[in-house]
Amino acid sequence: MKLSQLFTKTEKLPPAEEVSANAQLLERGGFIYKNNSGIYTFLPLGWRVLQNINQIIREEMDAIGGQEMQMPSLINKRYWEASGRWEVDVMYKLQDANKHEYGLGWTHEEVTAEIAKRYLQSYKDMPFSLYQIQTKFRNEARAKSGILRGREFLMKDLYSFHPDEASLNEFYWQVAEAYHKIFKRCGLEAIITEASGGDFTKEYTHEFQVLSEAGEDEILYCEKCRYSQNASISQMAKGGKCPKCEGKINSGKAIEVGNIFRLGTRFSKAFNLNYTDEQGAEHPVVMGSYGIGPSRLVGTIVEVFHDDKGIIWPASVAPFQVYLISLDGTRVESDKIYKKLLSKKISVLYDDSEERSAGAKFADADLLGIPVRIVVSTKTLKEDSVEIKRRGADGFELVKIKELEGWLTK
Ligand SMILES: [Zn+2]
Repeated sequence: MKLSQLFTKTEKLPPAEEVSANAQLLERGGFIYKNNSGIYTFLPLGWRVLQNINQIIREEMDAIGGQEMQMPSLINKRYWEASGRWEVDVMYKLQDANKHEYGLGWTHEEVTAEIAKRYLQSYKDMPFSLYQIQTKFRNEARAKSGILRGREFLMKDLYSFHPDEASLNEFYWQVAEAYHKIFKRCGLEAIITEASGGDFTKEYTHEFQVLSEAGEDEILYCEKCRYSQNASISQMAKGGKCPKCEGKINSGKAIEVGNIFRLGTRFSKAFNLNYTDEQGAEHPVVMGSYGIGPSRLVGTIVEVFHDDKGIIWPASVAPFQVYLISLDGTRVESDKIYKKLLSKKISVLYDDSEERSAGAKFADADLLGIPVRIVVSTKTLKEDSVEIKRRGADGFELVKIKELEGWLTK
């Protein structure tokens, strides 16, 4: 795509009211637009990043047998009353013209449990899992940290259904493995952290935490084996010994990018979601639920990967792979390179302006954080070459135009 045709423009200064790095850089770069506190639009550039993340999540969820679907956001009061969650204070509540009451979906255990009731009768129907990637709502008293904690955000929520705890546990650890793959593919190291089960379960639940000063959580973790507990429940202490490997325990602020819960029979009992076993006896279904916030993940990646000039996207989620800059009236030659890269299915953002200064173009390339910057100038053309620089790396190299495709695909 040509930068001159891109809907958004970059801004020199961050918006005055934003304090977090993710919101400052994403708004300056034209990735997101703040509509209200905690409510953001994903603009074309930001949407491309989000879609790349969603695609990674889809591939890994499908690989463990997850089936994607889409549930409503408008959820009738009867669902929440059945589970005892109508009074939850983070839920937006509203009434329709007929005075029927609804809660805007912040989670979907109730809805999946009721749907599953129609199709699930026998032990032979299980295990299975369903997921969606959907906008969720949370009535936050004080939205903060940019897109890390919003009132409206994207969520991948997966729900699994099992005849017994053993089947649930097997799948639970499969999901944990899939989550590690997802975060790794997004360039992040997520530490699997034990946390208290709250009202869902007496067992530990697990959070996936990325170390960052922007995080709201504090975790204790082993420097050697990465065994970790959330500080709010932990018996471990900073500087102490790891109970698993005797390594040194450290602590740090962290952003929770995912969580997994063994729900047990809490929701199946609330919705009479039962199955018959081989002997014909009836039992409640055992459930699990598993969340990842793709929009929060965008913010986390920016918090972890940025410098004083802008964002440094990992290639796997970057909105474009190449930022192509034409300098010194080399438009004709640059156009040819642009078309050639497109024909090879390499995604390019092409800064084709003949008016803007080289400095302004370089500043945009750094702010937008696209992994590879290619500069075409009269100097490079004398060598039949272009100048290539990786975002975040020092120095550049000259690459022959005829070897460019090979360089980019290697
Ligand atoms: Zn350890």
